[in-house]
Amino acid sequence: MRETFDVCIVGAGPGGLAALSAMTEPYSLDQLSRDQWNRVAHVDLKHRKDRIPPKVCVVDPGGWLSTWHARFKALQIQWLRSPVGAHPDIFDMHSLLAFATRTERCDELLDSGAVNADLRSLPEAGQGLWNLPSNELFEQFCGDLAARLPHSFIHGEVTSVEGDDGDFTVFLKDGQPILAQTVILALGVPGPAAFPGALAPVPEHLMFHSDFECGARLQELSGKKRVLVIGGGLTAVQVAQLALKKDCEVVLLSRRPLTTRHFDIGERWFDRRRANVHHYEFFQKPMEERLEHIKATRGGGSVPPFYMKEIREAEASGRLVCKQGEVQLSHVWAEAVDVLIDGQVNRFDLIVNACGHRADGRHLPLVRELLRTAPTEVVGGFPVLSQDLQWGDFKQLFVVGALASLQVGPDAGNLMGLRRAVQIVANALSLRAWLKDTKTVLGNICGNRFQALDSDSDSECESV
Ligand SMILES: Cc1cc2nc3c(=O)[nH]c(=O)nc-3n(C[C@H](O)[C@H](O)[C@H](O)COP(=O)(O)OP(=O)(O)OC[C@H]3O[C@@H](n4cnc5c(N)ncnc54)[C@H](O)[C@@H]3O)c2cc1C
Repeated sequence: MRETFDVCIVGAGPGGLAALSAMTEPYSLDQLSRDQWNRVAHVDLKHRKDRIPPKVCVVDPGGWLSTWHARFKALQIQWLRSPVGAHPDIFDMHSLLAFATRTERCDELLDSGAVNADLRSLPEAGQGLWNLPSNELFEQFCGDLAARLPHSFIHGEVTSVEGDDGDFTVFLKDGQPILAQTVILALGVPGPAAFPGALAPVPEHLMFHSDFECGARLQELSGKKRVLVIGGGLTAVQVAQLALKKDCEVVLLSRRPLTTRHFDIGERWFDRRRANVHHYEFFQKPMEERLEHIKATRGGGSVPPFYMKEIREAEASGRLVCKQGEVQLSHVWAEAVDVLIDGQVNRFDLIVNACGHRADGRHLPLVRELLRTAPTEVVGGFPVLSQDLQWGDFKQLFVVGALASLQVGPDAGNLMGLRRAVQIVANALSLRAWLKDTKTVLGNICGNRFQALDSDSDSECESV
C-alpha cells in the first residue's frame, strides 16, 4: 500500500521550509502568552515525549532553497535585505542570531543603519535582531534546519492536486501520485516576468529578464559590453553592480528616481509596537483595496541606503550613468540595440530587464489547473483564499508566499510574511491546540488572528 503523508508541502524554498518547521515544531517561543509559557514549562517535556510529529513530505524539482541559492549566486548578493529575525525557523525567532553566535560568525551580521532613534528602544534592536545576515550564513542555517526537521524529500514538479480534505492525491509531472491529508502550496513567484511593451521587438539574444532561469543569463555580462539595465528596485541596482564588476559600461534606466528604504516595505511593518495595527488595517479593507494597499506599501521598488551609496560612488566615478524615463526603442541591429534616452540615441550590446514580475497566478501551470478543478475568484492576479489561507472550499489545502498576498499582506512573499502565513496554517490545523489559552479571545483563535480581531464575537473558528 502506498504511504499517506499527513502533510505534503509543494515547494522547497524558504516558504516550504517555514511550513515544515510550523508543521513539526510543537510551538513558537515568540508567540506564547504568559499563560502559555507556564503551560509549556509544565507539559512540554511530556508533550514532546508523547508527541508523534506529523509525517511530512516536501516536493520540489530542485533541492532545498535551490531557487533562492541560484538567484543569490547569479547576482552575487552578499547580504539579505531582511533582518536576522526573519527566517524559516518557526520555533524561535532568535535562532539565526544564535546560529551566528554559536558558529562564531557574528561578523556576518551587518548593521545596515536601519535602527533609528525610535527603534533603539526596542529590546530586540539592542539584541541585534535588526541586523542583516550574510547570505552564506542564512543558507547554511537553512541547510542545518532542513537536516534537523523530520521529513521526506521528493524530487519532482507537481502538476495537479486532486481529491478532498484528508484525502488528496498530488500528481507529479511523471504521473507519480503522492497521497496526503493536507497540502500546502509554497510556490514562490506569483506570475510571469514583467516586460516593458516598448521592448517587445528586441530579440532574445540582445535582451533577457534578470530572473530568467534564476539569473542564468547574467553570466553574459562580461568584457566591455555596453549594457542597459531597466528597473528602479534593488534587483536593477544589483544587476547594474554586477555588470560594473564585470567591466561593462552601464546605464541604469528607471521610470522615476531611485528611492531609498532599508526594507522593501516600511520599518513600521517590522516594528512589533505598530505592525499589528498595520495588519489589522489591511484586513479591514475589501480585496480590491487590499491590492491598492499592497502596491502603495511596496511602492515601485526601493534601494537600501548602503547600496545607494555604492551606486552614487559609481556614478561619481563616471562608470555608471543613472537615467530616468520610459524606455523608447529606436532601432534593432543584428548585434546591438539603439534606445532613445533624453532625446539621444544610445547603442547597447545587451539589455537586462530587471522590472520584476507581474502578479498573475494563472501563469503557474499548477494554479491554472487548480483554478480549473476548484475555481476560486482571482483579484489582481492573486487567488482569493479564505482568511486561514485555504483554497476555495477546501479546509486542508493551503497557500503561503506571494500568492497569498491578499490574505497575508504586502510582505507575503518575503521571509517575514512567510513566518506569519505558516503560523496561520498551523493554527488552522489546530496543531497548537494543546496550548490553548481559552480565557482570552486571542487564545481561542485558531487561524488568522488579525481577521478574527475584526469580529465582535469571540466564537471559535472552524478547525480541522
Ligand atoms: C534577488 C532576490 C533577493 C531577495 N532577497 C530577499 C531577502 O533578503 N529577504 C526576503 O525576505 N526576501 C527576499 N526576496 C524575496 C524572496 O524571493 C522570498 O523571500 C523567498 O524566496 C520566498 O520564498 P518562497 O518559498 O515563497 O519562494 P521560492 O524561494 O521562489 O521557492 C519556491 C519553490 O517552489 C518550487 N515550486 C514552484 N512550483 C512548483 C511545483 N509545481 N512543484 C514543485 N515545486 C514547485 C520552486 O522550484 C521553488 O524551489 C528576494 C528575491 C529575489 C529575487
